[in-house]
Amino acid sequence: MKVKMILPALAEAESPFWRPIKYSLFPPLGLATLAAYLSPEDEIDLQDQHVEALNIDDEPDLVIIQVYITNAYRSYQLADHYRAKGVYVILGGLHVTSLPEEAMQHADSIFLGPGEETFPLFLMDFKNKAPKQVYSSSIRTLEKVPPIRRDLIKRERYLVPNSIVVTRGCPHHCDFCYKDAFFEGGKSFYTQAVDDALAEIERLPGRHLYFLDDHLLGNSKFAIELFEGMKGMNRVFQAAATVDSILRGNLIEKAAEAGLRSLFVGFETLSPANLQQSNKKQNLQKDYTHAVNRLHSLGIMINGSFVFGLDEDDQDVFKRTVDWGVNHAITTSTYHILTPYPGTRLFQNMEKQGRIMTRDWDLYDTRHVVYKTTNLNAVALKNGYDWAYTEFYKWSNIFKSSLKHENLKHQLKHFCYTGGWKKFEPLWNFLIKTKSLNNMLPLLESILSKVKLSSKEPDSRHAKTSLEPAFDLSHLIQNQPLKLGNTQ
Ligand code: SF4
Repeated sequence: MKVKMILPALAEAESPFWRPIKYSLFPPLGLATLAAYLSPEDEIDLQDQHVEALNIDDEPDLVIIQVYITNAYRSYQLADHYRAKGVYVILGGLHVTSLPEEAMQHADSIFLGPGEETFPLFLMDFKNKAPKQVYSSSIRTLEKVPPIRRDLIKRERYLVPNSIVVTRGCPHHCDFCYKDAFFEGGKSFYTQAVDDALAEIERLPGRHLYFLDDHLLGNSKFAIELFEGMKGMNRVFQAAATVDSILRGNLIEKAAEAGLRSLFVGFETLSPANLQQSNKKQNLQKDYTHAVNRLHSLGIMINGSFVFGLDEDDQDVFKRTVDWGVNHAITTSTYHILTPYPGTRLFQNMEKQGRIMTRDWDLYDTRHVVYKTTNLNAVALKNGYDWAYTEFYKWSNIFKSSLKHENLKHQLKHFCYTGGWKKFEPLWNFLIKTKSLNNMLPLLESILSKVKLSSKEPDSRHAKTSLEPAFDLSHLIQNQPLKLGNTQ
């Protein structure tokens, strides 16, 4: 059987204002995971429109398209194109799960929730010429998941080909997050067996790994066993976790020993009221400065995530947030305009209040204001968001922030990582054009090399709580609305 798997480009990835490098980071792991259920005899063509021009003149037996909100219209066009040729088309992913009726108009079968249980069922039905229209996942387990078909991934086109996912979902329930909608009808947080995760790591060449899990530290027992197993593997890795997990026991020290060198952390807001309103209870009363110091003391760089436009935000929120990031030596900041994704409690609440201003899903990219704001007007919100990016990534602020570290090596790493990421666009574009992005991996690995604990840098085991009440973040929230957007 000929199978075509497509990740259509997100609308923003092709805008002249956005950065090609952002969309050439991670390969389409979800599709490569599903491909593992196909037969070795099947002829599989996996295409990621972020890194290659799509060939749609073919006539496969089956087309599988992964749908996010801002590639939804493009996905539907592709689906319609193939269905017009008589090809069987299936759609799955976050957006399909949120809006099944919409997706159903463009597909022969749709998939709701994760596909590990339902995709093999579909393949059986398809073989028996009796596929169903809707496959809804209820059994949630990663046991017996076959190894990802990494041979289908064009490694040289990605900066981070060694991306990996060893858990699904997250134990928390933030109102603006897709997670609860996607995992409705079953467990919303579960892990691989540790041995399977370690075996997958062993299969990856080189040293660098990027865990794309929503919350790698979400299950302490699993995380500790994973990190124990990784000791001695000589890996360096990046991951995401919540503020509260950084402060829990000695989990973060174990992660650092296993090779953790940079962490995506959802700080999101300095306002406890915003935190409460977004159901970010897990981070209430948590000391943010303590968490930052703890990471710095272990030589772990921080990618801080921040949301603008929550109901308590005022005109000063942009400066307050940027200053906080610079003064706390946050390595990179990702700012988002609050976005009510369909299917989330945030969307439902805003809809009830008549605050949803547009259903043009291309604008749901966390860079546009798509809802009726409260304290800030929409123009001020958009301008403030743009200003925050420009301000945080000014050379003077990169320099100032780097110098906050006591350790010279940490200063240099911070400076190179932030400057390299944001200030060398022509070089990134050249590497993308020449399909040689992967050649930058040794440089990335050396920037992520270990920093020895300085006697002056605060020791995580004795880190003090914040002395700056304005920034004592009992207030921070974790939000990773869309993984592709977490590394701006
Ligand atoms: S926003 Fe982050 S912490 Fe909250 S539910 Fe989603 S993944 Fe979990």
